[in-house]
Amino acid sequence: MLPASNNLLKTIPFWTDHFPRPADLPIATAVPETADVAVIGSGYTGLNAARVLAQAGATVAVLERHTIGWGASTRNGGMATPGIKRPLRQIFQTYGRDYAHKFWQASLDAIDLIDQIVHEENIACDWQRRGHIALAYKASHFISQQQSHQWLKEEFGHETTLVAPGDLHTEIGSDVYFGGLADAYSGGLQPARYLFGLARAAARYGVHLCEGAGVQRIEQLPTRFLVHTSAGSVNAKDVLVATNGYTDRLVPSLKPKIFPVGSYIIVTAPLPPDQQKMLSPKGRMFYTTQNFLNYFRLTPDGRMLWGGRNNLSTNLDLHTSATRLRAGMVRAFPELAAVPLSHTWTGQLGLTFDLMPHIGRAHGLHYAFGYGGHGLSIATYVGAEVGKLLAGHISSSPFLEIPEDVRFFYRNRPWFLPFAAHYYRFKDWVS
Ligand SMILES: Cc1cc2nc3c(=O)[nH]c(=O)nc-3n(C[C@H](O)[C@H](O)[C@H](O)COP(=O)(O)OP(=O)(O)OC[C@H]3O[C@@H](n4cnc5c(N)ncnc54)[C@H](O)[C@@H]3O)c2cc1C
Repeated sequence: MLPASNNLLKTIPFWTDHFPRPADLPIATAVPETADVAVIGSGYTGLNAARVLAQAGATVAVLERHTIGWGASTRNGGMATPGIKRPLRQIFQTYGRDYAHKFWQASLDAIDLIDQIVHEENIACDWQRRGHIALAYKASHFISQQQSHQWLKEEFGHETTLVAPGDLHTEIGSDVYFGGLADAYSGGLQPARYLFGLARAAARYGVHLCEGAGVQRIEQLPTRFLVHTSAGSVNAKDVLVATNGYTDRLVPSLKPKIFPVGSYIIVTAPLPPDQQKMLSPKGRMFYTTQNFLNYFRLTPDGRMLWGGRNNLSTNLDLHTSATRLRAGMVRAFPELAAVPLSHTWTGQLGLTFDLMPHIGRAHGLHYAFGYGGHGLSIATYVGAEVGKLLAGHISSSPFLEIPEDVRFFYRNRPWFLPFAAHYYRFKDWVS
């Protein structure tokens, strides 16, 4: 149960409550009859692909079932950190050294791309590169961090800073962690401001932003596609499915490739400046080292944002998840027990079985998804890559070249998630 001081808790994303969709964002009054490319989904993937394509001279319609940016792209933690969901050592073992370097570099380029877009498109979204620190949840995790620190330097030339347990107070006002690995490359932003800035930029290049246009069926014509939405149909030469964690059975062959995982967030009331400084002296992004990790940070207006996956399901009651998240937050920061929560919400990540992002093609349709908790930067990057591929500006891309992984036991409903949750909790316990 949440304390009575939380009875004003809003169950909507803080980001869009704080910065709603701008009233002057140019939304198309109707779905256009024709387009070179129809993009399904208006998150970072869809909007970045659309932006790049329109810049290259293509006519583009972005088709969104709800309102622009309704999905994970306005619900996330706003943390852009190097790497992708699959651990780098596993990538190295599975795909070999060259690919490991290629994927690692892509993850760094993805963060630089946010930087570039924010500056080129003049997007005011509180983007700051103050780095992140991964916090060792157990003493054994700090030993692994020492190895990672060395390996990243020797193999990838990437500098990180090991923070011994005794020095952690320079990074965080908490006593519960066993050291950390800090990386100055990372950044943070206000996700809704970024998303609506991308949408505005896309519209400036002529992209039709269509809301309330849920795609219901895609009809294959001899050389084109007829994309039927709840608000009319668009005849398009190419179609990009950019629905990630909200992918349904619209294209039945895509569903087995990606499954949704729920992530949940709480945000406190604003904290006094001296308390902000004490909890996060360097304004870092934070995450912990378990499989069932927590991610947290201060928001630009000085609230503590605390997130986690709970049991991976997408339908946990928001008060139940907020109660669990608050207990974890208060364990790390006991002084926050007295601070009321202002918002709690959830959203769906998209995960693939190999934990890799994928750009691909099915029945002539293009798709891009599978970023796990790295979609802020990786979806930005992958969206732009797909845009360049469709515009003919590039012919290959790191995440286009990898084989995909499907499992016989998943076709429609991710019934296996509770079992996976038990397995990963057990792994965390014995690690
Ligand atoms: C709570 C939470 C915290 C996260 N924290 C971070 C973080 O700190 N850092 C990070 O890097 N990543 C984070 N992520 C992941 C990141 O937000 C996503 O990977 C990224 O936003 C995916 O972008 P996208 O454009 O591919 O998909 P989305 O933004 O999810 O957009 C997909 C869109 O497709 C639409 N759609 C679906 N089906 C149809 C249809 N048939 N017709 C029309 N429209 C359709 C949906 O309505 C939705 O708006 C987090 C995610 C969540 C949920």
